[in-house]
Amino acid sequence: MSLLVVGSVALDTVETPFGRAEEAVGGSATFFAAAASLFCPVQVVAVVGSDYPLSALDFLRERGVDLGGVSQVEGESFRWSGVYSYDLNSRETLETRLGVFADFQPEIPAGFRDSQWVFLGNIDPELQCHVLDQVKAPRLVACDTMNLWIDVKRDALLELLGRVHLLLVNDAEARQLSGEYNLLRASRWIQQHGPRYVIVKKGEHGAILFMPEGVFFAPGYPLEEVFDPTGAGDAFAGGFMGYLAGAGSADPDELKRAMIYGSAMGSFAVERFSIDRLRHLRRDEIFERVRAFREMTAFEDLSVGAHAI
Ligand code: AMP
Repeated sequence: MSLLVVGSVALDTVETPFGRAEEAVGGSATFFAAAASLFCPVQVVAVVGSDYPLSALDFLRERGVDLGGVSQVEGESFRWSGVYSYDLNSRETLETRLGVFADFQPEIPAGFRDSQWVFLGNIDPELQCHVLDQVKAPRLVACDTMNLWIDVKRDALLELLGRVHLLLVNDAEARQLSGEYNLLRASRWIQQHGPRYVIVKKGEHGAILFMPEGVFFAPGYPLEEVFDPTGAGDAFAGGFMGYLAGAGSADPDELKRAMIYGSAMGSFAVERFSIDRLRHLRRDEIFERVRAFREMTAFEDLSVGAHAI
């Protein structure tokens, strides 16, 4: 039930209306592993430069995350910086400095190649395909992408879509990729190009899972204070995939439960800067939040008593 993630391990500089974090631990693989490791054993493949404070990842190791696939090479680590206004659903990227990430050629260690559960974080789709060439027979492969790759690596991305079971994107990316404004049509377009399942994330408004069996909606958890939305999508993916790997199943009912765990983990991620909230998060806090989701959304069959309307 090991879960393999390939993605970025970064240093993020983030400014929000509530403060600023300078060169904080970030990256898609980091947020993903911080969330998923509360559910199942996780294996990480990434690259960092000689300047990376590796001790900042010790908490992952203590949670049983296998960092054997994180290689440290001579040069600068990947750095990303962004700024958010009060509308925390949209952000501006100020700088992306690839550093050693520019030459990243993910090599999957022999011991990771028979992972049953695989998450391809947001990297060049050619590299995501290269990862799939190396894994043996995964049960579920999910991938993320971004506007940059939809623009400049469309063909490679379409090839990748033919090889994955699930695509996680935000609403703008789903529209850009498909050329369809309506999200139901957009996800149908994506499903016709490969993935059986599509998750469309809508920031604080939740996420929608499109399956051949139907549609499921997970709300965003209502929070009074959102400090830093960075990494929410990767924490969502970590909760979602971590839950499935822990459950050992991806049948439609488990996928629906995984959506709630994903939304819960995304909501924790934004409560503090960087991975600070996920670093100390306890499983009982997750279960409590998942119960709150149920309280917020459960209702009885409304057709009972409809005569009174
Ligand atoms: P999210 O907010 O879930 O989209 O993820 C944000 C994280 O993705 C940050 O920690 C960044 O370091 C990382 N990130 C931003 N741009 C890229 C990129 N082009 N490639 C890989 N990782 C990135």
